[in-house]
Amino acid sequence: MKETLCDFFLLIYLSIQLQGIIPIWNAETCWMSQIHFDAMKKARAVEFDRLRLTHVVSARREVIVSAGAINSPQLLMLSGIGPRDHLREMGIPVVSDLPVGLNLQDHIYPGGVHFLIDQPISIIQPRVFNLVEITKYLSMGKGPLTTLGGVEGLGFINTKYANASADYPDIEIHFLSGAPSADGGQTFLRVQGLADEMWRQVYMPYLYRDSFSFYPVLLRPKSVGYLKLRSRNPYDHPIIDPKYLTHPEDILVLVDAMKFCIQLGQTPAFKKFGARLFGTVFPGCEHYAMWSDEYLACVARTYTATIYHPIGTCKMGHPGDPTTVVDPLLRVKGVHGLRVVDASVMPSLVSGNTNAPVIMMAERMADIIKSAGAIYKKRRYKRRTRSKR
Ligand SMILES: Cc1cc2nc3c(=O)[nH]c(=O)nc-3n(C[C@H](O)[C@H](O)[C@H](O)COP(=O)(O)OP(=O)(O)OC[C@H]3O[C@@H](n4cnc5c(N)ncnc54)[C@H](O)[C@@H]3O)c2cc1C
Repeated sequence: MKETLCDFFLLIYLSIQLQGIIPIWNAETCWMSQIHFDAMKKARAVEFDRLRLTHVVSARREVIVSAGAINSPQLLMLSGIGPRDHLREMGIPVVSDLPVGLNLQDHIYPGGVHFLIDQPISIIQPRVFNLVEITKYLSMGKGPLTTLGGVEGLGFINTKYANASADYPDIEIHFLSGAPSADGGQTFLRVQGLADEMWRQVYMPYLYRDSFSFYPVLLRPKSVGYLKLRSRNPYDHPIIDPKYLTHPEDILVLVDAMKFCIQLGQTPAFKKFGARLFGTVFPGCEHYAMWSDEYLACVARTYTATIYHPIGTCKMGHPGDPTTVVDPLLRVKGVHGLRVVDASVMPSLVSGNTNAPVIMMAERMADIIKSAGAIYKKRRYKRRTRSKR
Protein backbone atom coordinates (compact mmCIF):
# COMPACT_ATOMS: atom_id res chain seq x y z
CA MET A 1 0.00 0.00 0.00
CA LYS A 2 2.83 2.36 0.97
CA GLU A 3 4.60 1.58 -2.31
CA THR A 4 1.41 2.15 -4.27
CA LEU A 5 0.83 5.54 -2.66
CA CYS A 6 4.44 6.60 -3.23
CA ASP A 7 4.16 5.54 -6.85
CA PHE A 8 0.92 7.46 -7.18
CA PHE A 9 2.46 10.72 -5.92
CA LEU A 10 5.56 10.13 -8.00
CA LEU A 11 3.36 9.63 -11.04
CA ILE A 12 1.55 12.91 -10.39
CA TYR A 13 4.85 14.71 -9.83
CA LEU A 14 6.35 13.30 -13.02
CA SER A 15 3.18 14.02 -14.92
CA ILE A 16 3.42 17.70 -13.94
CA GLN A 17 7.15 17.83 -14.70
CA LEU A 18 6.70 16.11 -18.05
CA GLN A 19 3.79 18.32 -19.09
CA GLY A 20 1.16 15.62 -18.91
CA ILE A 21 3.31 12.77 -20.16
CA ILE A 22 2.66 9.82 -17.82
CA PRO A 23 5.36 7.17 -17.83
CA ILE A 24 4.45 3.54 -17.28
CA TRP A 25 7.92 2.41 -16.42
CA ASN A 26 9.92 -0.50 -15.20
CA ALA A 27 8.95 -3.94 -16.36
CA GLU A 28 9.58 -5.30 -12.84
CA THR A 29 6.63 -3.45 -11.36
CA CYS A 30 4.38 -2.79 -14.36
CA TRP A 31 4.02 -4.91 -17.47
CA MET A 32 2.26 -3.30 -20.41
CA SER A 33 0.16 -5.84 -22.24
CA GLN A 34 -1.92 -3.94 -24.80
CA ILE A 35 -2.72 -0.60 -26.39
CA HIS A 36 -6.43 0.09 -26.93
CA PHE A 37 -7.68 1.89 -30.03
CA ASP A 38 -11.04 3.53 -30.72
CA ALA A 39 -13.08 3.09 -33.91
CA MET A 40 -11.04 5.86 -35.59
CA LYS A 41 -7.82 3.89 -34.82
CA LYS A 42 -6.68 6.44 -32.27
CA ALA A 43 -4.64 5.06 -29.36
CA ARG A 44 -6.90 5.73 -26.41
CA ALA A 45 -5.56 3.73 -23.51
CA VAL A 46 -2.83 1.44 -22.28
CA GLU A 47 -3.42 -1.75 -20.37
CA PHE A 48 -0.85 -2.99 -17.87
CA ASP A 49 -0.53 -5.35 -14.95
CA ARG A 50 0.71 -4.20 -11.62
CA LEU A 51 0.75 -6.12 -8.35
CA ARG A 52 -1.35 -8.82 -10.03
CA LEU A 53 -4.06 -6.33 -10.96
CA THR A 54 -4.86 -5.17 -14.46
CA HIS A 55 -5.08 -1.42 -14.92
CA VAL A 56 -6.12 0.68 -17.89
CA VAL A 57 -4.82 4.24 -18.20
CA SER A 58 -6.46 6.57 -20.71
CA ALA A 59 -4.37 8.78 -22.95
CA ARG A 60 -5.70 12.21 -23.77
CA ARG A 61 -3.24 12.98 -26.56
CA GLU A 62 -0.90 10.16 -27.40
CA VAL A 63 0.82 6.99 -26.27
CA ILE A 64 4.60 6.64 -26.52
CA VAL A 65 6.02 3.12 -26.54
CA SER A 66 9.67 2.73 -25.47
CA ALA A 67 9.92 -0.94 -24.59
CA GLY A 68 13.06 -1.60 -26.65
CA ALA A 69 13.72 -3.47 -29.89
CA ILE A 70 12.32 -6.75 -28.58
CA ASN A 71 9.32 -5.68 -26.51
CA SER A 72 8.05 -2.71 -28.53
CA PRO A 73 7.28 -4.87 -31.58
CA GLN A 74 5.82 -7.52 -29.26
CA LEU A 75 3.50 -4.94 -27.68
CA LEU A 76 2.48 -3.50 -31.05
CA MET A 77 1.64 -6.95 -32.40
CA LEU A 78 -0.33 -7.86 -29.28
CA SER A 79 -2.27 -4.65 -29.93
CA GLY A 80 -3.07 -5.48 -33.55
CA ILE A 81 -0.23 -3.68 -35.32
CA GLY A 82 1.93 -6.03 -37.33
CA PRO A 83 2.05 -8.28 -40.38
CA ARG A 84 -1.55 -9.17 -41.25
CA ASP A 85 -0.95 -12.90 -41.81
CA HIS A 86 0.93 -13.34 -38.56
CA LEU A 87 -1.70 -11.46 -36.53
CA ARG A 88 -4.45 -13.57 -38.08
CA GLU A 89 -2.50 -16.72 -37.29
CA MET A 90 -2.38 -15.53 -33.65
CA GLY A 91 -6.08 -14.63 -33.67
CA ILE A 92 -5.42 -10.94 -33.09
CA PRO A 93 -7.70 -8.43 -34.90
CA VAL A 94 -5.64 -6.33 -37.33
CA VAL A 95 -5.57 -2.59 -36.61
CA SER A 96 -2.73 -1.74 -39.00
CA ASP A 97 -0.91 -4.11 -41.34
CA LEU A 98 2.76 -3.17 -40.92
CA PRO A 99 6.11 -5.04 -41.09
CA VAL A 100 6.59 -4.97 -37.30
CA GLY A 101 9.26 -7.37 -36.00
CA LEU A 102 11.07 -7.64 -39.34
CA ASN A 103 14.41 -5.95 -40.07
CA LEU A 104 15.99 -7.21 -36.83
CA GLN A 105 19.69 -6.35 -36.83
CA ASP A 106 22.32 -6.84 -34.16
CA HIS A 107 26.04 -6.38 -33.51
CA ILE A 108 27.89 -9.68 -33.20
CA TYR A 109 31.49 -10.74 -32.74
CA PRO A 110 33.44 -13.99 -33.00
CA GLY A 111 35.62 -15.43 -30.24
CA GLY A 112 38.82 -17.25 -30.94
CA VAL A 113 41.52 -14.58 -31.26
CA HIS A 114 43.25 -15.04 -27.88
CA PHE A 115 46.92 -14.60 -27.03
CA LEU A 116 49.00 -15.93 -24.15
CA ILE A 117 51.54 -13.59 -22.58
CA ASP A 118 54.51 -14.13 -20.26
CA GLN A 119 54.03 -11.29 -17.82
CA PRO A 120 51.57 -11.05 -14.90
CA ILE A 121 49.74 -8.01 -16.23
CA SER A 122 46.37 -9.31 -17.39
CA ILE A 123 43.10 -9.84 -15.56
CA ILE A 124 43.00 -13.21 -13.85
CA GLN A 125 40.10 -13.62 -11.47
CA PRO A 126 41.94 -14.80 -8.30
CA ARG A 127 44.60 -12.11 -8.80
CA VAL A 128 42.04 -9.33 -9.15
CA PHE A 129 39.15 -10.48 -7.02
CA ASN A 130 40.74 -11.09 -3.61
CA LEU A 131 40.59 -9.51 -0.17
CA VAL A 132 43.63 -7.24 -0.72
CA GLU A 133 42.32 -5.83 -4.00
CA ILE A 134 38.75 -5.48 -2.73
CA THR A 135 40.02 -3.58 0.35
CA LYS A 136 42.25 -1.38 -1.84
CA TYR A 137 39.33 -0.61 -4.12
CA LEU A 138 36.89 0.16 -1.30
CA SER A 139 39.36 2.22 0.78
CA MET A 140 41.32 4.08 -1.92
CA GLY A 141 39.40 3.53 -5.16
CA LYS A 142 42.55 2.06 -6.71
CA GLY A 143 43.79 -1.22 -8.16
CA PRO A 144 42.68 -3.61 -10.90
CA LEU A 145 39.04 -3.50 -9.76
CA THR A 146 38.83 0.00 -11.25
CA THR A 147 39.08 -1.47 -14.77
CA LEU A 148 36.18 -1.07 -17.17
CA GLY A 149 34.99 -4.66 -16.88
CA GLY A 150 38.01 -5.92 -18.78
CA VAL A 151 37.40 -4.02 -22.03
CA GLU A 152 40.48 -1.79 -21.92
CA GLY A 153 40.70 -0.68 -25.51
CA LEU A 154 38.55 -0.01 -28.57
CA GLY A 155 39.58 0.52 -32.16
CA PHE A 156 37.70 1.09 -35.38
CA ILE A 157 38.97 -0.28 -38.69
CA ASN A 158 37.87 -0.64 -42.29
CA THR A 159 38.18 -4.13 -43.70
CA LYS A 160 38.69 -4.57 -47.42
CA TYR A 161 34.90 -4.98 -47.70
CA ALA A 162 34.10 -1.58 -46.14
CA ASN A 163 32.13 0.81 -48.31
CA ALA A 164 34.85 3.20 -49.49
CA SER A 165 32.41 6.04 -50.10
CA ALA A 166 30.88 5.79 -46.61
CA ASP A 167 32.33 7.71 -43.69
CA TYR A 168 32.01 4.92 -41.16
CA PRO A 169 34.11 1.87 -40.34
CA ASP A 170 32.77 -1.66 -40.61
CA ILE A 171 34.54 -3.19 -37.58
CA GLU A 172 34.98 -2.14 -33.95
CA ILE A 173 37.70 -4.11 -32.15
CA HIS A 174 37.22 -4.75 -28.45
CA PHE A 175 40.49 -5.37 -26.65
CA LEU A 176 40.15 -7.44 -23.48
CA SER A 177 43.02 -7.92 -21.06
CA GLY A 178 42.09 -11.56 -20.51
CA ALA A 179 40.36 -14.51 -22.16
CA PRO A 180 37.37 -16.69 -21.23
CA SER A 181 39.82 -19.03 -19.47
CA ALA A 182 41.01 -16.31 -17.07
CA ASP A 183 38.10 -16.73 -14.65
CA GLY A 184 38.30 -20.52 -14.51
CA GLY A 185 34.84 -20.84 -16.07
CA GLN A 186 33.02 -18.93 -13.34
CA THR A 187 31.45 -16.15 -15.42
CA PHE A 188 32.51 -15.91 -19.06
CA LEU A 189 31.58 -19.50 -19.82
CA ARG A 190 28.05 -18.89 -18.58
CA VAL A 191 27.35 -15.38 -19.91
CA GLN A 192 28.73 -16.20 -23.35
CA GLY A 193 26.88 -19.53 -23.45
CA LEU A 194 30.01 -21.42 -24.48
CA ALA A 195 29.38 -25.05 -25.36
CA ASP A 196 30.95 -27.63 -23.03
CA GLU A 197 32.98 -29.19 -25.80
CA MET A 198 34.41 -25.82 -26.86
CA TRP A 199 35.21 -24.97 -23.26
CA ARG A 200 37.02 -28.27 -22.65
CA GLN A 201 38.92 -28.27 -25.94
CA VAL A 202 39.86 -24.60 -26.41
CA TYR A 203 39.91 -22.94 -23.00
CA MET A 204 40.49 -25.54 -20.25
CA PRO A 205 44.19 -25.99 -21.19
CA TYR A 206 44.77 -22.30 -20.37
CA LEU A 207 42.88 -21.85 -17.09
CA TYR A 208 44.10 -18.80 -15.12
CA ARG A 209 46.95 -18.12 -17.59
CA ASP A 210 47.88 -14.52 -18.46
CA SER A 211 46.29 -13.60 -21.78
CA PHE A 212 44.54 -10.99 -23.89
CA SER A 213 41.88 -11.15 -26.60
CA PHE A 214 40.57 -9.23 -29.58
CA TYR A 215 36.87 -9.37 -30.36
CA PRO A 216 36.07 -7.73 -33.73
CA VAL A 217 32.46 -6.51 -33.78
CA LEU A 218 30.61 -6.57 -37.11
CA LEU A 219 29.24 -3.01 -37.22
CA ARG A 220 27.21 -3.06 -40.42
CA PRO A 221 25.82 -6.58 -40.74
CA LYS A 222 23.93 -7.43 -43.89
CA SER A 223 22.15 -10.39 -42.28
CA VAL A 224 18.67 -9.45 -41.15
CA GLY A 225 16.45 -11.44 -38.79
CA TYR A 226 12.97 -11.15 -37.38
CA LEU A 227 10.88 -11.65 -34.30
CA LYS A 228 7.30 -12.73 -34.00
CA LEU A 229 4.80 -13.59 -31.31
CA ARG A 230 4.94 -17.00 -29.69
CA SER A 231 1.37 -16.60 -28.47
CA ARG A 232 -1.16 -13.95 -27.44
CA ASN A 233 0.14 -14.12 -23.87
CA PRO A 234 2.13 -10.90 -23.21
CA TYR A 235 4.35 -12.83 -20.76
CA ASP A 236 5.48 -15.34 -23.37
CA HIS A 237 8.86 -14.39 -24.82
CA PRO A 238 8.60 -13.68 -28.55
CA ILE A 239 10.27 -16.00 -31.06
CA ILE A 240 13.54 -14.35 -32.10
CA ASP A 241 15.51 -15.47 -35.14
CA PRO A 242 18.41 -13.04 -35.67
CA LYS A 243 19.69 -14.98 -38.71
CA TYR A 244 23.27 -14.13 -37.81
CA LEU A 245 25.80 -14.68 -40.62
CA THR A 246 23.19 -15.68 -43.17
CA HIS A 247 24.39 -13.01 -45.61
CA PRO A 248 27.60 -14.35 -47.23
CA GLU A 249 29.45 -11.05 -46.93
CA ASP A 250 29.20 -10.91 -43.13
CA ILE A 251 31.47 -13.92 -42.62
CA LEU A 252 34.00 -12.51 -45.12
CA VAL A 253 34.16 -9.22 -43.19
CA LEU A 254 34.65 -11.06 -39.91
CA VAL A 255 37.42 -13.27 -41.32
CA ASP A 256 39.23 -10.19 -42.66
CA ALA A 257 38.87 -8.51 -39.26
CA MET A 258 40.13 -11.61 -37.42
CA LYS A 259 43.19 -11.67 -39.67
CA PHE A 260 43.81 -8.01 -38.84
CA CYS A 261 43.53 -8.83 -35.11
CA ILE A 262 46.00 -11.72 -35.44
CA GLN A 263 48.52 -9.40 -37.11
CA LEU A 264 47.89 -6.73 -34.47
CA GLY A 265 48.75 -9.20 -31.71
CA GLN A 266 52.06 -9.88 -33.42
CA THR A 267 53.22 -6.26 -33.52
CA PRO A 268 56.21 -5.27 -31.35
CA ALA A 269 53.89 -3.52 -28.88
CA PHE A 270 52.33 -6.90 -27.95
CA LYS A 271 55.33 -9.10 -28.75
CA LYS A 272 57.30 -7.48 -25.95
CA PHE A 273 54.94 -9.22 -23.51
CA GLY A 274 55.60 -12.58 -25.21
CA ALA A 275 52.26 -12.56 -27.11
CA ARG A 276 51.50 -15.82 -28.96
CA LEU A 277 48.19 -17.22 -30.19
CA PHE A 278 46.35 -19.92 -28.26
CA GLY A 279 47.34 -23.24 -29.83
CA THR A 280 44.11 -25.13 -29.20
CA VAL A 281 41.81 -25.98 -32.12
CA PHE A 282 38.09 -25.20 -32.18
CA PRO A 283 35.85 -28.26 -32.17
CA GLY A 284 34.40 -28.95 -35.61
CA CYS A 285 37.17 -26.92 -37.31
CA GLU A 286 39.95 -29.53 -37.01
CA HIS A 287 39.89 -30.37 -40.73
CA TYR A 288 40.96 -26.82 -41.76
CA ALA A 289 44.55 -25.55 -41.67
CA MET A 290 44.87 -23.49 -38.52
CA TRP A 291 44.45 -19.72 -39.04
CA SER A 292 43.48 -20.20 -42.70
CA ASP A 293 40.45 -18.21 -43.91
CA GLU A 294 38.32 -21.37 -43.78
CA TYR A 295 39.45 -22.11 -40.23
CA LEU A 296 38.67 -18.54 -39.09
CA ALA A 297 35.23 -18.69 -40.73
CA CYS A 298 34.59 -21.95 -38.90
CA VAL A 299 35.69 -20.38 -35.58
CA ALA A 300 33.44 -17.35 -36.18
CA ARG A 301 30.47 -19.64 -36.85
CA THR A 302 31.27 -21.81 -33.82
CA TYR A 303 31.74 -18.95 -31.31
CA THR A 304 29.34 -16.17 -32.35
CA ALA A 305 28.28 -13.79 -29.59
CA THR A 306 25.89 -10.87 -29.49
CA ILE A 307 26.91 -7.53 -28.07
CA TYR A 308 23.24 -6.89 -27.21
CA HIS A 309 22.48 -4.14 -29.72
CA PRO A 310 19.21 -5.25 -31.34
CA ILE A 311 17.52 -2.60 -33.47
CA GLY A 312 15.25 -2.09 -36.46
CA THR A 313 12.07 -4.02 -35.57
CA CYS A 314 9.83 -0.92 -35.90
CA LYS A 315 11.76 0.64 -38.76
CA MET A 316 11.56 4.39 -39.27
CA GLY A 317 11.45 5.89 -42.75
CA HIS A 318 9.39 7.41 -45.49
CA PRO A 319 5.68 6.67 -44.88
CA GLY A 320 5.36 5.48 -48.50
CA ASP A 321 8.08 2.86 -48.00
CA PRO A 322 6.34 -0.48 -47.32
CA THR A 323 9.23 -1.67 -45.13
CA THR A 324 8.70 1.10 -42.55
CA VAL A 325 6.59 1.02 -39.38
CA VAL A 326 6.98 4.61 -38.16
CA ASP A 327 7.39 7.91 -40.02
CA PRO A 328 10.33 10.30 -39.39
CA LEU A 329 8.44 11.74 -36.39
CA LEU A 330 8.21 8.17 -35.07
CA ARG A 331 4.42 8.04 -35.43
CA VAL A 332 3.09 4.56 -36.14
CA LYS A 333 1.62 4.40 -39.63
CA GLY A 334 -2.06 3.68 -40.11
CA VAL A 335 -3.13 4.73 -36.61
CA HIS A 336 -3.28 7.98 -34.65
CA GLY A 337 -1.78 9.05 -31.35
CA LEU A 338 0.92 6.38 -31.13
CA ARG A 339 4.68 6.73 -31.31
CA VAL A 340 7.58 4.36 -30.78
CA VAL A 341 10.74 5.93 -29.39
CA ASP A 342 13.58 3.47 -28.81
CA ALA A 343 16.21 1.38 -30.57
CA SER A 344 13.56 -0.45 -32.59
CA VAL A 345 13.05 2.54 -34.91
CA MET A 346 16.66 2.66 -36.17
CA PRO A 347 16.49 1.62 -39.84
CA SER A 348 20.03 0.23 -39.77
CA LEU A 349 22.78 -0.22 -37.22
CA VAL A 350 25.17 2.56 -36.30
CA SER A 351 28.94 2.09 -36.42
CA GLY A 352 29.28 2.08 -32.65
CA ASN A 353 27.38 1.21 -29.50
CA THR A 354 23.68 1.91 -29.48
CA ASN A 355 22.91 3.43 -26.08
CA ALA A 356 24.02 7.02 -26.81
CA PRO A 357 22.23 7.16 -30.20
CA VAL A 358 19.02 5.94 -28.54
CA ILE A 359 19.33 8.62 -25.84
CA MET A 360 19.97 11.22 -28.54
CA MET A 361 16.85 10.13 -30.47
CA ALA A 362 14.76 10.20 -27.30
CA GLU A 363 15.99 13.71 -26.38
CA ARG A 364 15.20 14.95 -29.86
CA MET A 365 11.74 13.38 -29.81
CA ALA A 366 11.06 14.78 -26.32
CA ASP A 367 11.81 18.28 -27.66
CA ILE A 368 9.52 17.75 -30.66
CA ILE A 369 6.67 16.40 -28.53
CA LYS A 370 7.03 19.15 -25.92
CA SER A 371 7.01 21.89 -28.54
CA ALA A 372 3.93 20.29 -30.14
CA GLY A 373 2.42 20.27 -26.64
CA ALA A 374 3.13 23.98 -26.23
CA ILE A 375 1.36 24.74 -29.54
CA TYR A 376 -1.56 22.57 -28.43
CA LYS A 377 -1.81 24.44 -25.12
CA LYS A 378 -1.62 27.82 -26.89
CA ARG A 379 -4.45 26.80 -29.24
CA ARG A 380 -6.61 25.61 -26.35
CA TYR A 381 -5.93 28.87 -24.48
CA LYS A 382 -6.91 30.93 -27.56
CA ARG A 383 -10.09 28.88 -28.00
CA ARG A 384 -11.02 29.36 -24.35
CA THR A 385 -10.39 33.13 -24.36
CA ARG A 386 -12.32 33.50 -27.65
CA SER A 387 -15.34 31.65 -26.27
CA LYS A 388 -15.33 33.87 -23.15
CA ARG A 389 -15.50 37.06 -25.23
C1 LIG B 1 23.90 -6.67 -21.35
C2 LIG B 1 23.87 -5.41 -22.21
C3 LIG B 1 25.00 -4.62 -22.28
C4 LIG B 1 24.99 -3.47 -23.08
N1 LIG B 1 26.10 -2.68 -23.11
C5 LIG B 1 26.07 -1.53 -23.82
C6 LIG B 1 27.20 -0.67 -23.81
O1 LIG B 1 28.21 -0.92 -23.18
N2 LIG B 1 27.10 0.48 -24.56
C7 LIG B 1 25.99 0.79 -25.29
O2 LIG B 1 25.98 1.83 -25.96
N3 LIG B 1 24.93 -0.02 -25.30
C8 LIG B 1 24.94 -1.16 -24.58
N4 LIG B 1 23.86 -2.00 -24.59
C9 LIG B 1 22.73 -1.64 -25.48
C10 LIG B 1 21.85 -0.58 -24.85
O3 LIG B 1 21.53 -0.95 -23.51
C11 LIG B 1 20.57 -0.48 -25.69
O4 LIG B 1 20.89 -0.16 -27.03
C12 LIG B 1 19.64 0.60 -25.17
O5 LIG B 1 19.38 0.43 -23.80
C13 LIG B 1 18.35 0.55 -25.96
O6 LIG B 1 17.43 1.46 -25.39
P1 LIG B 1 15.89 1.24 -25.55
O7 LIG B 1 15.24 2.42 -24.92
O8 LIG B 1 15.58 0.93 -26.96
O9 LIG B 1 15.52 -0.07 -24.74
P2 LIG B 1 15.77 -0.48 -23.16
O10 LIG B 1 16.91 0.31 -22.66
O11 LIG B 1 15.85 -1.95 -23.22
O12 LIG B 1 14.46 0.03 -22.51
C14 LIG B 1 13.24 -0.64 -22.61
C15 LIG B 1 12.54 -0.58 -21.26
O13 LIG B 1 11.20 -1.00 -21.40
C16 LIG B 1 10.88 -1.91 -20.38
N5 LIG B 1 9.83 -2.79 -20.89
C17 LIG B 1 9.91 -3.68 -21.90
N6 LIG B 1 8.74 -4.27 -22.12
C18 LIG B 1 7.87 -3.72 -21.24
C19 LIG B 1 6.49 -3.92 -20.99
N7 LIG B 1 5.75 -4.78 -21.70
N8 LIG B 1 5.91 -3.20 -19.99
C20 LIG B 1 6.64 -2.31 -19.28
N9 LIG B 1 7.95 -2.08 -19.48
C21 LIG B 1 8.56 -2.78 -20.45
C22 LIG B 1 12.18 -2.62 -20.07
O14 LIG B 1 12.18 -3.16 -18.77
C23 LIG B 1 13.17 -1.47 -20.20
O15 LIG B 1 13.29 -0.76 -19.01
C24 LIG B 1 23.84 -3.13 -23.80
C25 LIG B 1 22.69 -3.94 -23.69
C26 LIG B 1 22.70 -5.05 -22.90
C27 LIG B 1 21.45 -5.90 -22.79
